[in-house]
Amino acid sequence: MLTAIEDALVAGIELGGTKALAVLTRGPTVVARTRIPKTDPRTTLDALSSQLSEWAARGNEFEAIGIGSFGPVGLDPRRSDFGHVTTTPKPGWRNADVRGHFAQRFDVPIGFDTDVNGAALAEGRWGAARTCSVHCYLTIGTGVGGGIVVNGRPVHGLVHAELGHVRVRRRITDTFPGTCPYHGDCVEGLVSGPAIAARTGQSGEQIDRGHPVWDDVAAELGQLMAMLVLTVSPERIVLGGGVGIGQQWLLPSIRGAMVEALGGYVAPIDVSTATELIVPAGLGDDAGPLGATAVGLLAAGETQLDRHGR
Ligand SMILES: [Zn+2]
Repeated sequence: MLTAIEDALVAGIELGGTKALAVLTRGPTVVARTRIPKTDPRTTLDALSSQLSEWAARGNEFEAIGIGSFGPVGLDPRRSDFGHVTTTPKPGWRNADVRGHFAQRFDVPIGFDTDVNGAALAEGRWGAARTCSVHCYLTIGTGVGGGIVVNGRPVHGLVHAELGHVRVRRRITDTFPGTCPYHGDCVEGLVSGPAIAARTGQSGEQIDRGHPVWDDVAAELGQLMAMLVLTVSPERIVLGGGVGIGQQWLLPSIRGAMVEALGGYVAPIDVSTATELIVPAGLGDDAGPLGATAVGLLAAGETQLDRHGR
């Protein structure tokens, strides 16, 4: 007999660019959370798994673990880099076996995905993209990352989407060379927090709303949204991170730039429907940790299906 997976106690691990978080959740409710400074992989992963062991020892025996990690990561179980962080420039983390660390210590289903695919799943399950069959989640902060979910599953193929590293058409007046170590002026190199700081000498929160840098940021993000509409055809694009949550006043400009870039070609999209297409994260800052949980729930569900026959 299948138990209700939705009610299961699940441990979530969110490995972000600068922080690591362990959460214990039941559905969309966070029962406990611990933030851990992200240092080298061994110290960080040991601290996270110790917290999980402690929760289990106190009677909170979780039924699955979900891991949402910064990328790029290996998602193909047939490859030796499955469950690893792969080509990151972050010191010490290149080829770190994140999933394996937990698989050696816990005998429960373990889901592993990018942090943004996780957040996309969580927004589809509990947040701003419920009822959508195709949707995207984008976070714009210290980096720019995006996840795509189709019919309740994150898109995995060759690897996973890398929406922040797409190059878009820029405003002719924007000549900033960009900060991405791989591509220079990809979207992340143009509009991430470090890119905005490099452009202006100030952090995003300090910059006046009338500053011309925001015209470039909105225009370039609008181009990215138009590209998503043309390739993925999402019913919703959910925005998290600094821009999606902290600076929602930018959303009308981003939507306007997208509508202009589409040029009226995609029939359902105009200035009024764009407000329903591009929305802030419904789960707020919890989209990340609940994303890890959602990855764990998906793994638990697949294990049940395997046991009971698909
Ligand atoms: Zn790039």
